[in-house]
Amino acid sequence: MKKFWNIPLVLFPLLVGSGVFAESTPTPDQVITRLKQGNDRYLTGLSKHTRIDIERRVETAKYGQKPLTTILGCSDARVPPEIVFDQGFAEVFVVRVAGNVCGEDQIASVEYGTQCLGAPVVVVLGHSKCGAVDAAIEGKQLPGSLPTLVGKIHPAVEKVKQVQSELKGEKLLDECIKQNVWNTMEDLFRHSPIIVERVKKNELKVVGAVRDIKTGKVEWLGEHPAQQQFISEAVR
Ligand SMILES: [Zn+2]
Repeated sequence: MKKFWNIPLVLFPLLVGSGVFAESTPTPDQVITRLKQGNDRYLTGLSKHTRIDIERRVETAKYGQKPLTTILGCSDARVPPEIVFDQGFAEVFVVRVAGNVCGEDQIASVEYGTQCLGAPVVVVLGHSKCGAVDAAIEGKQLPGSLPTLVGKIHPAVEKVKQVQSELKGEKLLDECIKQNVWNTMEDLFRHSPIIVERVKKNELKVVGAVRDIKTGKVEWLGEHPAQQQFISEAVR
């Protein structure tokens, strides 16, 4: 049988129909719209849970993954990205780490998702009542390797306390969670020429979001307000 990329030609209509190979990669804005629609379905109890069946598993094991979104999110068990956005099997490339912090391993994983797998959107996803951010605010003694991880969140806490010194309690936590998302987005631009290049070519959008763990709603923060500055400074 004639083959193209080692795939029997007879299977092409099936694969295109299944979405293993989309006809063309959607634009970043189209992908973000899909995520918003998925979160709306989840919020209203109308999640489709499609494409998580055995056929899809077999299909993706055989023909590979083509995720449309790379998500760098917190490990918190209450924020599973595929469910939050009602996405199917192999549609989201997920990097999870407590406090959605950004070290070299996370950057490399995000680069893999966007450069090697071609996902046109990166979402940095924080969430309300994040224990890692709370630990950074409280400054309590922590065991094991946790101080190193929480240390990556300290700059966000310091910035919020500096700019909005009146904030206390839950309001302080909420602002630090948002600032920590902004900081992780900045880290991606500052340390990844791959991400900078793809954003410059409009092949990629990097957006921030925070999920409310009580309502399930995702608040979209959009692109980083200083994104153009990060890009121009990366070029110099
Ligand atoms: Zn968290």
